[in-house]
Amino acid sequence: MGYQTPRGTQDLLQDDTRKWLAVESLIRSVCSVYGYDEVRTPIFESTPVFKRENDSSDMVNKEMYTFSINGEDSLTLRPEGTAGIIRSFVEHKMYGRLEMPAKIYYMGEMFRYERPQKGRYRQFNQFGIENIGAKSPIVDAETIALGYSILKALGLSQVKVLINTLGDDESRNNYRTALKEHFKDCIGELCSDCQRRYEQNPLRILDCKVDHEHPSLVSAPSLQDYLNDESREYFNEVLAALDALEIPYEIDDRLVRGLDYYTHTVFEVVSTHPESGSQATVFAGGRYDNLVQYFGGPEMSGVGFAMGMERLMILCEAEGIKFDEDEGIDCYIMSLGNVKNVPLQVATSLRAAGYVTEMDVLKRGLKAQFKSVDRKKAKIAVIVGESELANHQVNIKNIATQEQITVNIDEVVDVVDKWLMSESLEG
Ligand code: ATP
Ligand code: MG
Repeated sequence: MGYQTPRGTQDLLQDDTRKWLAVESLIRSVCSVYGYDEVRTPIFESTPVFKRENDSSDMVNKEMYTFSINGEDSLTLRPEGTAGIIRSFVEHKMYGRLEMPAKIYYMGEMFRYERPQKGRYRQFNQFGIENIGAKSPIVDAETIALGYSILKALGLSQVKVLINTLGDDESRNNYRTALKEHFKDCIGELCSDCQRRYEQNPLRILDCKVDHEHPSLVSAPSLQDYLNDESREYFNEVLAALDALEIPYEIDDRLVRGLDYYTHTVFEVVSTHPESGSQATVFAGGRYDNLVQYFGGPEMSGVGFAMGMERLMILCEAEGIKFDEDEGIDCYIMSLGNVKNVPLQVATSLRAAGYVTEMDVLKRGLKAQFKSVDRKKAKIAVIVGESELANHQVNIKNIATQEQITVNIDEVVDVVDKWLMSESLEG
């Protein structure tokens, strides 16, 4: 048996990366019009960056790739982007150097030890943004709008925004007490994860994928009833801003999100396409109030989301989004006889001029080389022949018009300029 990709990982092949690059470049351009700059952090961090005390999430408790080599401090492959970005924000004192809010995006591989399924992998990619230093409902809405506009720009239509508020610390503490009371008598009937959550963070019980239909979850009190005025007002302003942008949403009072650091707004944007199944969340996030301080920075609030790139690509596929087809190359250099390094020289000068150029390197017959011109959809063929070369000349053929001329080697780039220019003017 040969070698294979490890469980929960995949190769992106040529046709995949072409699509990924198109999507990534669209994402980057949306980030740029929103004024976000990219930050690249290491793929591993010291473990406490992710494993914060009292964290009750599955991600931190069961899904991290943690290792230590030669007795050095424990390291963890990043399971998410936010913690590393905030670590970097504080380490580089961005709060003192940059105009606030800081607007950062990231893109890259994340690692979680999960049970692999369609849309759920052990190595996967996230694109995410963090807006740090402005506690404003407008910014929460703007954050959702950025992610939403990426989906719209791709042409995805079967998506909806689910939104909820966890309120401020006071509201959440009151709610936590109410939940503990509510689950007190039946916690034994719930799964072992829920029993751990009951102690660590009872809110997370509402996020349980095992027990979500258990009567005690269905009848659990709603956080909406425990919000103080300030938290309610904050949430209403987020919703009003979404209304103003005509972004449709549904309030989901069971939405608590997987990570522990959220306060106020939390949201998930899900696909309603039948094929997306239980891995329907494309991007998700919320506001966090304590994270910058946790890493040793000043008291500062942030908001962000992370988008699952593989899930995004699956949705594009399901909704039949078309990406640019392979458009073919500009020039193909053919060789006839002993022409030494000339084809390589010609190809290099065409490439330097920006033309996508290929050449025969297999010393094949003329017929086989013309087949390559065809297959590669070359617009121009340059034929370097031993006899023409004696006069410092080559043949050059415009495939569309079938025009063929003999030119001095130094004129090849000019002819290609002329032919492809007139083609692009007509096209
Ligand atoms: P889920 O409930 O599906 O496990 P999560 O709450 O763990 O999601 P987040 O930590 O919020 O997910 O990550 C943000 C996004 O990253 C998800 O909405 C999803 O699109 C994507 N994502 C998360 N885990 C994976 C994974 N294992 N494989 C592929 N994409 C993932
Ligand atoms: Mg998860």
